[in-house]
Amino acid sequence: MDYTLPVFLAHAIALECEAAERYQELADMMEAHRNDKVSALFRDMVLYSRMHHDSIVERAGSTVLPKIGPWDYVWRTPPEAGGDEAFDYRINPYDALLYARENEVRAMNYYSDVGMNSREPEVRRLAAEFAHEECEHVAKLDAWLARTHRP
Ligand code: ZN
Repeated sequence: MDYTLPVFLAHAIALECEAAERYQELADMMEAHRNDKVSALFRDMVLYSRMHHDSIVERAGSTVLPKIGPWDYVWRTPPEAGGDEAFDYRINPYDALLYARENEVRAMNYYSDVGMNSREPEVRRLAAEFAHEECEHVAKLDAWLARTHRP
């Protein structure tokens, strides 16, 4: 894939926006489970995604970004939730963490793919930086998975 900077920024903004929304949903679900710790983790992740989103928007500045349609790398709903239906609110903390992890890995792979393959040095640099951030998110979720009861 050979992204120009505006196309890359548009995708990154879409990805972070989606992540923030999904984490918000996950946080609400965990609250319904009265799992305040995992809920708080997901609320932190909402903030990280929003901060990342905002810094990308800032980085884009006055650059005109292309509108992009729905796209494969954006977070996927769990298969059991069925298409565009809302999440299954009975999802347990372990599966919620696992689901978040899968999506973080997808984001990480996406960014590192762009980071390695783009012809534009600035796109490569930014994408590598974002891939690193996603890698940290995956590590954070792994740490939580390790101390969460597996149903
Ligand atoms: Zn992330």
